[in-house]
Amino acid sequence: MKKRKVVLTEDEMPRQWYNILADIKMNPPLGPDGNPVGPEQLAPVFPMNLIEQEVSTERWIDIPDGILDVLSIWRPAPLIRAYSLEKALDTPARIYYKYEGVSPPGSHKPNTAVAQAYYNKEFGIKKLTTETGAGQWGSALAFACSQYGLECKVYMVRISFDQKPYRKSMMQTWGANCIASPSSETKAGRAILEKDPDTPGSLGIAISEAVEAAVTDESGQTRYSLGSVLNHVMLHQTIIGLEAKKQMEKIGEYPDIVIGCAGGGSNFAGLAFPYAYDKINGKDVAIYPVEPEACPTMTRAPFAYDHGDTAGYTPLLPMHSLGHTFVPPPLHAGGLRYHGMAPTVSQLIVEGILEPKAFGQIATYEAGLLCARTEGVIAAPETNHALACVVDEAKKAKEEGKEKVILFNWSGHGLIDLAAYDKYLSGQLEDFAFPAEDIEEAEKVLESYPKPEILKSV
Ligand SMILES: *Cc1c(COP(=O)(O)O)cnc(C)c1O
Repeated sequence: MKKRKVVLTEDEMPRQWYNILADIKMNPPLGPDGNPVGPEQLAPVFPMNLIEQEVSTERWIDIPDGILDVLSIWRPAPLIRAYSLEKALDTPARIYYKYEGVSPPGSHKPNTAVAQAYYNKEFGIKKLTTETGAGQWGSALAFACSQYGLECKVYMVRISFDQKPYRKSMMQTWGANCIASPSSETKAGRAILEKDPDTPGSLGIAISEAVEAAVTDESGQTRYSLGSVLNHVMLHQTIIGLEAKKQMEKIGEYPDIVIGCAGGGSNFAGLAFPYAYDKINGKDVAIYPVEPEACPTMTRAPFAYDHGDTAGYTPLLPMHSLGHTFVPPPLHAGGLRYHGMAPTVSQLIVEGILEPKAFGQIATYEAGLLCARTEGVIAAPETNHALACVVDEAKKAKEEGKEKVILFNWSGHGLIDLAAYDKYLSGQLEDFAFPAEDIEEAEKVLESYPKPEILKSV
């Protein structure tokens, strides 16, 4: 029998996260007055222990036992050799993936949800608010809050709320309260509904609602939680890549190419940042974040200062952005719809350490089907973007006759996203080329803000 999986024991779980801020220069987040925001300005939104992590430049940060205890429900996650996919593609490439679908909510997201719930609880917070798009983040935070006895309120993008009732059922099963966004409960929500009562909603709008709900709560014991984009989220996800490195080492492998899908950047960063660290230190490794052609943040949008949310409540972040007023095309079924990209991922793109790729949604579902019928796992629509790139690279390796080692992150399973597979299987999915006018529109939205410096750390 061939060995498919490389597993670690619980004792071998990493005890520290890797912080990329130790190794790159960053433009600071800016407040409404155009000056860098200080930690105290973020205090109404996040607990101070997480703010300290957000700005820390320590390279290694200890993972508290209270977090490891909960992560050990499903971690360490397996590293799996995709023999069946390799065979189907008749490629000389050796393909490995980290499988993050083994967590209770079915994705990588609880790696940070658990950490965030833990630090909020330690700080004396009683309730967390958040947004969710497809519903994975909302269910991850609902799960994490249930582990630590916190209340949880989730603003779910309207179109997903209507199309994905089972994600809402998961959140409620873990004890969270989930409502459709925009809602009439917040000023931000009411303003959008007044202008456009039939809006499908967007992540940017839902973030505005969740932030507003946290900072206007009079008890002072509510904070907001974000599932991607921010530095501390990327930090918590690095357990993926640190495990992968140990696992690859056990079998004497090192990747030539590291691949992950990127919406806000967190699962990608989780796998890739420990390898970006090697690359910064001279190692030869190609690192590809992958996005949909329908929301081309990394491959076509400007690197600019922009808000993380539609109402403009958040500080200005230096990132690739389609503009905070972006509403994704409703026919896009692949997730990864956020208008911005993690500032750390954006900075590494500017530095040339990462080389972003984009795929049309038909190619992503083709790859998803091929993997379901070979590897067996039905991938999340987001993961399908990574799969499309993996298939592409494996075919290139075949053409070039090279034994490339490809490592990618299988960020989650798609068992709650089967409606999108139905659409693909019944021929209802179309590719959507993002119009050039919309990039110009984004540039106009961003024109009035300060420009980030093009910093080079490497
Ligand atoms: C949320 C999600 C993503 C996209 O978010 P990132 O922060 O870019 O990782 C990708 N895959 C799955 C399965 C998700 O749930």
